[in-house]
Amino acid sequence: MIALLLADIHANLAALEAVLASAGKVDAVWVMGDTVGYGPEPGQVLALLHELGPLVVAVAGNHDRAVATGEGLELFNPYAAEAARLHRSWLSVAERDLLASLPLTRQADGFTLCHGSLRDPLWEYVTTARQAQETLSRSPTPGACNGHTHVPALFRYEGAAAVRDTATVDHPHPLAGRVLVNPGSVGQPRDGDPRAAYALLDTASGTITFRRTSYDVDGTQRRIRERRLPPFLADRLAVGR
Ligand code: ZN
Repeated sequence: MIALLLADIHANLAALEAVLASAGKVDAVWVMGDTVGYGPEPGQVLALLHELGPLVVAVAGNHDRAVATGEGLELFNPYAAEAARLHRSWLSVAERDLLASLPLTRQADGFTLCHGSLRDPLWEYVTTARQAQETLSRSPTPGACNGHTHVPALFRYEGAAAVRDTATVDHPHPLAGRVLVNPGSVGQPRDGDPRAAYALLDTASGTITFRRTSYDVDGTQRRIRERRLPPFLADRLAVGR
């Protein structure tokens, strides 16, 4: 089985379309939260994921919750809060209800999915091996997948402790043992590479491959400005920060 791992799509339709085209045919699509927030097309991104139907296994991110219910808005920086308020006003009640119904964690094929961490599913940024260990030690499955940092990452157990592995692109990394995978952000990368990030998990060969694909950044920037979202949210897409 091939699972396409997505996180932090952030209402960037062009980036999501590019990733789906680049990934090719897959058997499942795992979405580690923050489908909305920041970008220009929250409704269209939700509709495109809806079209994929039963392939999709999705969890809630902090932005999804804020857009759906207003929860946590006070914890956002001013740009994120403004975008979340606008998204709340653009989406229908049905779309907001759908976001509100997303669970904090879900299991799929030996992996537990969350947005931040299994210690704090909505808000913790897992950036260290110690934090990865906290999540893996709470995982009911051998593997776990997260997002939230907008930076691709791979952690695995070596002996009694989790260590960081490299997350180099286009190279199949073995999945043996307990691993935590963050595919990076589809719609707002923050590792200095503006291309959309995703990962392909192959259960038959037991590998994870991190990938990047170019998309029309200019077009998304233009629509962010047209829709009166904070201009900073357009500027950062060009540099991937
Ligand atoms: Zn995010």
